[in-house]
Parts: sequence; C-alpha cells; structure tokens
Amino acid sequence: MADYNPYENMLHVLDKAAEKLGMTKNEYEFVRYPERELTVSLPIVMDDGHVEVFSGYRVQHSTARGAAKGGIRFHPASDENEVRALAAWMSIKNAIGNIPYGGAKGGIKVDPKKLSERELQRLTRTYVRRIAPFIGTDKDVPAPDVNTNAQIMAWIADEYSAITGEWTPGVVTGKPIVAGGSLGRNEATGRGLTYTLETWCEKKGLAMKDLTLAVQGFGNVGSVGSLLMHRAGVKVIAIGDIDGSLYNPNGIDVEKAYVYANSHGRSLKGYEEEGATFIPNEELLKLPVDVLFMAALENQLHAGTMEGVKAKVILEGANGPTTEEADDYFEAKGIEVLPDVMSNVGGVVGSYYEWVQNKTGLYWTEEEYNARLKDNMRRSYEDVDAIRQQYHVTYRLAAYMLALKRIVEAQNTRGFLG
Ligand code: NAD
Repeated sequence: MADYNPYENMLHVLDKAAEKLGMTKNEYEFVRYPERELTVSLPIVMDDGHVEVFSGYRVQHSTARGAAKGGIRFHPASDENEVRALAAWMSIKNAIGNIPYGGAKGGIKVDPKKLSERELQRLTRTYVRRIAPFIGTDKDVPAPDVNTNAQIMAWIADEYSAITGEWTPGVVTGKPIVAGGSLGRNEATGRGLTYTLETWCEKKGLAMKDLTLAVQGFGNVGSVGSLLMHRAGVKVIAIGDIDGSLYNPNGIDVEKAYVYANSHGRSLKGYEEEGATFIPNEELLKLPVDVLFMAALENQLHAGTMEGVKAKVILEGANGPTTEEADDYFEAKGIEVLPDVMSNVGGVVGSYYEWVQNKTGLYWTEEEYNARLKDNMRRSYEDVDAIRQQYHVTYRLAAYMLALKRIVEAQNTRGFLG
C-alpha cells in the first residue's frame, strides 16, 4: 500500500458527496484545499548531548465554521500527507458534531518510545515555540492523538502560556484535570463510540448483549471504548495492539485487561487469562464477530485485508482505517461501516466542552459532561442517518454530504475572499 494517499482518499469521498448534493465545483472547490500548512524543524539536544532535528507539521484545513481544531500525533510515519488528511477529516467531523470549529491536525515524525521523558518534553515545548504564532484559543486549538496524552497537553498549555505571558488553558484540550482539563474528556472518544454502537443496535432491533466484538488498538480510544462496550454487555473476544492480538472465544475480561495494559506501558504483552491465547495480528481482522472495532491507525482495511472481514458492522474509532476500495467492497457485501467522522466525534465534542469550560471558568460535573456528550452523539447519528435514508447512500457518504453542506453554508454566509 505504498501509494496510499489518505488526502486523495478523502477528496474522492468529498467529490462524491458534492455530486450527490448537486453542488457545482465553484460552490465547494475551496473545501478541497487546506487553508494553511506549516512545516517546522525541531532541533533537540538529546540526553547524551548530541543534537537531533525532528520534523513537525500543523495543517489548518478549514476555519469556515470557527477556530481550527484537531489533535497532535507523535509517530514515525507522520508526514504532510497524513496530517493534511487528518486535518480535513477534522473539518468534516466538527461539522457533523455541529460544534463551532473548523479542522486542523498536527504531527511530529518521531517514535516517542525511543525518547526519555525529558527529551519528549523538550521536543513538545520546541514544537509549541515553532507553531505558537499560528495557534490560540480562538485560532487553532490542538488536542491529543496517537502517542500523545494529557501530560503532553499540559506541557503545551504551559509553554504557550509562558510565551503569551498569561495562563491560557483554552489553547489546547485533553489536559489533566489539575491543569484545566475536564472531567470526562479522557473517556469521551470511547464513550461516544459506545453511544454510536448503542444507537446502531436500536435501529437494528438488537441488544448490546447480543454482540461479539474484536478491537484493533487498545490505546485511549480502543481500551476505553471496548471497556464501556463490555460493561454494556458486549462480548469482546479479541483485543489487538502493536505487540500482538489476544483472543478468547469465551470473552475477554476487559476490566482486567484494561488495568493490566494501563500498568504495563499500555501494552498487553505478557497478559494471561484462562482460555486466552495470542494470535497473529492479521487474524484479528478475519474473526467471525458482529462488530469489528477499528481503533489503531488509518489504512488498515484495504484491498489486501478486506476480503477476510466477516463482521456485520465496522465501527471506526480510528481516523481513516478503511480505504475507499475497501469501503466499496463492504457496501457491496452488505457490511455496514459506521464511519470515523460520525462515530469518533465524541473526542472533539468532549474537547469542545473542555474549551467552553476554560473560556467561562465554570467547570461541570462528569454527569453533566456525559449527558451532553450522549445528546450530541445521538443528534450527530440522527442527522447523518436522515441524509443516508433520504439519498439511499452509505453512512460515510451521508456524513460527508452533511458536513459539506454545513461548511459551504457557513463560508457563504460569512462571504468569500477573492
Ligand atoms: P493511542 O496511541 O492511545 O493508541 C493506539 C493503539 O493502536 C495502541 O494500542 C497501539 O498499540 C495500537 N496500534 C498501533 N499500530 C498498530 C498496528 N499496526 N496493529 C495493531 N495495533 C496497533 O491512540 P488513540 O488516541 O487511541 O488513537 C487511536 C486512533 O483513534 C487514531 O486513529 C486517532 O487518530 C483516533 N482518534 C483518537 C481520538 C482521541 O481522543 N484520542 C479521537 C478521535 C480519533
């Protein structure tokens, strides 16, 4: 899949959505281009004294609906193309969640596991200094993504505040509670995905306890999501992460696996449970489960893997796990895909709630936060579903149609430059 270009993938779906809506190229052409792209070099003095220069990126795809918003990823495969696609998906997602944001994303090409904590902190702070003129509470607001966490968000808030000379927690979301974070944010993406699956079940006349599930990725999204689904009665029979895939046909004790992973560097390596074995990672995608929950990275379900999939529904927690080709294949096979831009919107909706609290200085209870999140997840699903039924299209195409309409309407109302 060397020639896979996630931005091209995104554009194809966007063009299809515009065609279905009967939009002319003039009306939506601006959405096909990111508004602003920044590449930065990040020289870091490593612990042993030598200097290493890393590459960092920040792409603001759209600000039509409000401040740019989207996470920051630390990954060796991060590059301009990946970040560009992730930024565009954020614009789509924020429009579906109907929150007042455009879309952005950031990344640093690095394997953070190879850095000491001091190196990681220096890298994060250097990145903030480089992108500082482009971010801000009402400008562009980062958040966590793959391999970044609440601690890193705290460093970002701290460094930015040192630059501006005032404590500015709203410049970044996903912070620890003591540093302006919000109760509920850490679980928001996984919780939101659980609400999405519940809504799908209701529409199908199924109960959560009737479902079996395999999850790829056991980080923030996969672990919280599968834990909450497990608590709702879903039988989780496989959990995969970068180190291997745990399989137990009788159902994994997700509570135990969750605690284990969180106390073992977020890995299930060495985990033991009666009836459980480790299987090769590629086998996980082929298991005969009801739900295949994708919660690792993009480009996992493609021409080389799609034919093995036996699930009835694919729940996308990760951004972009399914290529366009695999999407078409699943549609032809009657396998439903609950797409990233609708299903994992809980993360950014939760970030929006944190940002609102930072701006007002009034902090909510976790119950209030979760109730609002549930409401938003349901509304997002129903808005997409209404278009899906009206136009007889997939969830993904319906989601893009809804988002495109909202982005174009916002920009038209504000007026065009040029
Ligand atoms: P994370 O770093 O916490 O976890 C990533 C997980 O994927 C880890 O368990 C890792 O071992 C696993 N993984 C990586 N490569 C793999 C591979 N090749 N095979 C199997 N497992 C693999 O990241 P996260 O925050 O949970 O994000 C996961 C996905 O969800 C990403 O696509 C991210 O963009 C998306 N997402 C995250 C959030 C959020 O709030 N964190 C919100 C929306 C979407």
